[in-house]
Amino acid sequence: MQALLADVAARSYTALVVLEITKYGHPVLREKGKRIERVTPEIRQLAAAMIETMYAGNGVGLAAQQVGRALMLTVLDVRDPERPSQMFVGGALQDLNTVMPLVLVNPAITHTEGEQVGSEGCLSVPEISAEIRRAARVSVSAQNLDGKPLEFECTGLLARAVQHEVDHLNGILFIDRMDAATRASFAGKLKKLQKETQSQLAASAKPHHEAVRL
Ligand code: ZN
Repeated sequence: MQALLADVAARSYTALVVLEITKYGHPVLREKGKRIERVTPEIRQLAAAMIETMYAGNGVGLAAQQVGRALMLTVLDVRDPERPSQMFVGGALQDLNTVMPLVLVNPAITHTEGEQVGSEGCLSVPEISAEIRRAARVSVSAQNLDGKPLEFECTGLLARAVQHEVDHLNGILFIDRMDAATRASFAGKLKKLQKETQSQLAASAKPHHEAVRL
């Protein structure tokens, strides 16, 4: 009985792990994700941890690069009554409560239509948000966590979030989509964040010669 309880506790702990989010200045954010050829238990575990990390950060999407992995994997949850979304599979409107959180393996945008301008931020670029121009409606081709093909169309916040996340998977950040004047207005903040990230990376790469005190 106790062994069983311990096992359950260990598993629920694993599922609730919150990963560290990589920040602007970390080179992995500029890497193109590797295609996932097979959805292994490790990929499912990573997706579950990414969902927890996204919720912990109050995000609506998270890409693998944002947890330090250059892989074609992203998670989304756009259930926001103030910024509605529509998702269609085979032309049929989906109930977001049954399809979210959404995990996309190897997603690609196959078609875009129209234009929307709206406020956007990024968990890897804290304290910066700006109006970003995106397509209004996009068609997406991906696989789900069972490795099965998943094709859908979407509008609203989901269309915006999918474009933001697919950009991440290709090493592109939302600041690259800002108009020149907006990006210039954030130059100081971005430089500071980049420096902080790089000095943290340098510190964690240094060997620890000091004895561990327990
Ligand atoms: Zn982002």
